Amino acid sequence: MAKKKFKTEVTELLHLITHSLYSQREIFLRELISNASDALDKLKYLTLTEDDYKGFPFVPRIDVEFDDTEHATLSVSDTGIGMNAEELAENLGTIARSGTRRFLDDAKSDAAADTNLIGQFGVGFYASFMVADRVEVTSRRAGDDQAHRWTSDGRGQFEVEPAERAQSGTTVTLHLSDDGKEFASRYRIEGIVKRYSNHIPHPIHLHYQEATGTGDDAADPEEKVEQINAASALWKRPKAELSDDDYREFYKTLTVDTEDPLHWVHTHAEGTLEYTTLFYLPAKAPPDIYYADYQPGVKLYVRRVFITDDDRELLPTYLRFIRGVIDSEDLPLNVSREILQQNRTMSAIRQASVKKILSELAGLAKNNAGAYDRFFTELGRVLKEGLYQDPGNREQLLELVRYRSSSEEGLVSLAGYKERMSSEQKAIYYITGDRSADLRRSPLLEAYRAKGFEVLVMEDEIDELVVPAIGTYGDLELKAVNRSDTADDLEDDRDEESEKKIEPLLGKMKKLLSEQVKDVRPSARLSDSPSCVVADGSDPTLAFQNVLRQLGQRDLPDSKPILEVNPGHPIIVGLAERGDDALLDDASRLLLEQALLIEGVRPEDPIAFAKRLNRVMERALG
Ligand code: ADP
Ligand code: MG
Repeated sequence: MAKKKFKTEVTELLHLITHSLYSQREIFLRELISNASDALDKLKYLTLTEDDYKGFPFVPRIDVEFDDTEHATLSVSDTGIGMNAEELAENLGTIARSGTRRFLDDAKSDAAADTNLIGQFGVGFYASFMVADRVEVTSRRAGDDQAHRWTSDGRGQFEVEPAERAQSGTTVTLHLSDDGKEFASRYRIEGIVKRYSNHIPHPIHLHYQEATGTGDDAADPEEKVEQINAASALWKRPKAELSDDDYREFYKTLTVDTEDPLHWVHTHAEGTLEYTTLFYLPAKAPPDIYYADYQPGVKLYVRRVFITDDDRELLPTYLRFIRGVIDSEDLPLNVSREILQQNRTMSAIRQASVKKILSELAGLAKNNAGAYDRFFTELGRVLKEGLYQDPGNREQLLELVRYRSSSEEGLVSLAGYKERMSSEQKAIYYITGDRSADLRRSPLLEAYRAKGFEVLVMEDEIDELVVPAIGTYGDLELKAVNRSDTADDLEDDRDEESEKKIEPLLGKMKKLLSEQVKDVRPSARLSDSPSCVVADGSDPTLAFQNVLRQLGQRDLPDSKPILEVNPGHPIIVGLAERGDDALLDDASRLLLEQALLIEGVRPEDPIAFAKRLNRVMERALG
């Protein structure tokens, strides 16, 4: 067969792998073994569900062999599903996984790309070229008579030709490069397999040579074969038998995370439904967590048979950071995705799993607040999505969310906030906006601070969406301080006399700014600053309008802010007394522009803004 070209992205990936990625080269073996294991799972599944494959002769196993003298080759074989000629060309000539595509984009855009990313994204089969100059894949599809061999040196082309193979399955042979030769070693291979692949549910056999006899009696070395992995479904073992190290190690075989998990929960449920779940909380957010096509982290097994690791319905999306295993005794083996979604057993397992995870999080928050806060800092944004996705668990979720606060350091809970409230305070106050806007210093908080009211600082885009939907916590209303109606709570503090004095000024300002604002009003929420902007009633705040624009929403309804001014501030008092129209125009616009700047909105016309500022300064000097 003629030579074929790799798809461009494969060529790019291979170039990157061979030229710039040197750390963690050992993961190539994890990738090959995981592919072998997938191939065994696929064939096992067919023999259990497809009539054509019932009784197919099949002893699942993986064999690792290497050249002990020259250290020239290393191979991984499996007795799995195999590939025909088309599948070899298709599966090993393109990149199917979108995660890998993204890895490539990231790595290209960032000259100093973290080479560890390769481990996190799992570039799969192509990792072989980190240690090999040439790779051969000999494969025979289960049910076919003819085998084929795929060969490539990883430089743009590959070849597929007919070949011999006694049994169905696949053998990947690496012709090791000079600096890949270190991997052709019994101890090296054993170490890597124990680290990454110990709980692959199929036996991994290592072939090696052992010298027999000593000194003059030394005979030819003897070939030995030894199983080097535990090959047990760890999650099926009783909890009492498992150490923390067992759990941590299993986590690493399950994920490509190089860090220890933060926490885990292992459950054997018996009764009407029999199932096992083992869920892990990662210490770091998985790199694709905010992408729409994230890779789900939970694998579904039915009676230890692997079914899928690609189902996003196993847990609700707001728990998509969870890694682990669900193994059911009751589901049929040939569950399709459609069946899975409507299946009562599955939805009962899912519901119980959500409850379990939420109560585990609550336990962590109570017993190890430091660890919980670390979790929340990494993944809280995802968890918060549950507040609108999962009304059924809203109560529990409200206990789990954390925010920054105007008066406390670190993260605070709603319960903690409530406890600190004075009897005078009637609602829970919060401010939403952009992280970059330094909300804790916002002038909108001045009056609340002065009264000793704590304000929750909500800086995630999602807060703006979610919190108005929550409405209340227990019997307390949640009120945004950057909305016009909230100031009701500060009504008592109004200074009616000064407000009266600036009425004519407000009228003029309103006329001047009628294009930009809905209204100009005296404010009860300012003490040190002259002005601020707030959103009217249920209008989206400015920060939120920014978010919507960034998301590509173009035809936003016209929702102008309200400008509030501080009737006691010397600038406002002065303007009201002078009645100087030239100054008034510049000053009104500057009062609005500075309030917008604080909200993270740049002046529409920066040049005009600078000119105004300069005119006012000149006047001050002259
Ligand atoms: P992934 O495993 O994430 O799909 P890989 O790059 O590791 O990506 O493998 C690409 C594809 O090649 C696999 O999806 C599979 O279809 C095929 N493949 C790789 N190794 C084997 C194997 N040992 N047996 C059968 N198919 C394989
Ligand atoms: Mg793979």
